[in-house]
Amino acid sequence: MTRRLLLPALLIPLAFIPALGHGAPPKHQVKHPAKPASGPARTRAACRKIMQSIALTNQAHMIRTGSHDYTTDVKALEEEAGEKFVGKCPSGGKYTITINSDSTFTVHCSIKEHESNPHGRGGYTPPAN
Ligand SMILES: [Zn+2]
Repeated sequence: MTRRLLLPALLIPLAFIPALGHGAPPKHQVKHPAKPASGPARTRAACRKIMQSIALTNQAHMIRTGSHDYTTDVKALEEEAGEKFVGKCPSGGKYTITINSDSTFTVHCSIKEHESNPHGRGGYTPPAN
């Protein structure tokens, strides 16, 4: 007998919970973050990460060889890194490396849209862009 009375008593308070949502949003409803990039923006972002990875491989190359020189030979980096090397542009672009006059280096992709960055130099120059 007491069980039959208890169940409706528990359900009634639950029925009011959705009404609370009209005030402050429930904590689990966080503001939607910016929409993930799609299409060209997404492939560009993926390519930029690969450029960054190639740059890191080049930095590791310099440390490993002790040569104090970065290489412009992407193929050599690929051979050195082996399976760990990530070097395929999602749009089929070809990567090259140039040494800059300030002794930094820049990783470039042959896809023009992947080259652009806020710093205007083009490509990816570690560590800033
Ligand atoms: Zn690319």
